[in-house]
Amino acid sequence: MSAKLENSYQKAQLSISMLKDLNLEATIQNIELFMIHIDGKAPALSRDLQKFYQIDQTIGQHEADIMYRTHVMRVDLARNVGNLASTLQGEIDDLFHLIEQQGINSLQNSDELGGLSNQLRQSAEEFPAVGALLENVITITRKMQKENQALESSLAASTNEISSLRRNVETIQKEALSDPLTGVSNRKSFDEAIDRMIETAQETNEPLALIMADVDHFKSFNDRWGHQTGDQVLRLVAEVMNANIKGQDLLARYGGEEFAVLLPGTSLENAHMLADRIRRAVESRRLKKRQSSEDLGTITISMGVATYRKDDACNHLIERADQSLYLAKSRGRNCVIDERDIEPERSKQETHVA
Ligand code: GH3
Ligand code: MG
Ligand code: MG
Repeated sequence: MSAKLENSYQKAQLSISMLKDLNLEATIQNIELFMIHIDGKAPALSRDLQKFYQIDQTIGQHEADIMYRTHVMRVDLARNVGNLASTLQGEIDDLFHLIEQQGINSLQNSDELGGLSNQLRQSAEEFPAVGALLENVITITRKMQKENQALESSLAASTNEISSLRRNVETIQKEALSDPLTGVSNRKSFDEAIDRMIETAQETNEPLALIMADVDHFKSFNDRWGHQTGDQVLRLVAEVMNANIKGQDLLARYGGEEFAVLLPGTSLENAHMLADRIRRAVESRRLKKRQSSEDLGTITISMGVATYRKDDACNHLIERADQSLYLAKSRGRNCVIDERDIEPERSKQETHVA
């Protein structure tokens, strides 16, 4: 008999005799539990066994079950059940092979299996049907294999469920961050993005530009053509702006008829040029009423452009873009003003007051 096999019998025998001392049934689960303890490879289990034993001077089936669940059945159940089942199956096959070869009765006469046969005989006296016990082993192993298959398929079903849940979560996240009317990012998304982009600009020293845009005389457009047509215009403005940005740029609906574009890695000059391109593109669109194709004329937008300065808080950057936009409005609308123009304007006002 191989040393490995001999060793496993010895461990099993020792485990059975420990169970006997504790008056515990020699179930596969109990035998396995004590074999693991005997192996010495599960110190936490051995500590628990000793702890229980010290308290009550015995270990009940309830405690044994707890320890089995805690120390033997791992979280990664599917894999462990699989491994355990095949290991057990292998060992049982070995044992059966041996029994087939030698015949259970001839075990007694075999030198090699002498020790084992004595133990088996003793066990047979204790447990009238060692054969039944072994059958149990097989039944349990097969059951575990079946359960393992069932576990695998329920695992696959769960995986599918998780994927569909993840897709739902992604959709919800996307919806939470976008504006329902225009489909571009919403204010919440803008607030998050500006913080993130400022951090990156600080780390990389790359420029970061911000364009604020506002539809001109939109109130009178709404009053004249109705709110729904106004909504169509907001969609159109978003579409035109979107068509002119790329990559990391972020277009958001900042408020009612105000839009904001964050442009990482873009200088003030380039952002100004881009804003003017957008302004011209919006201006060039001839608006038509959807159903009647009635000509609604054109719409214009005014824009303010600012760029991130070292140690700017995000509201400083927004404020300069806003002031530039305000100046664009006061200079007649349908134009782009950047922050270089607001400083002289400010000092002019200050001189006036003085
Ligand atoms: P200015 O050129 O100075 O920007 O004039 P304005 O009329 O655009 O500015 P004001 O702030 O007085 O009016 C903004 C209008 O935008 C008022 C409101 O009816 C309209 N508005 C805001 N949100 C929406 C929206 O979601 N849909 C529609 N259709 N109109 C909106
Ligand atoms: Mg406005
Ligand atoms: Mg407006």
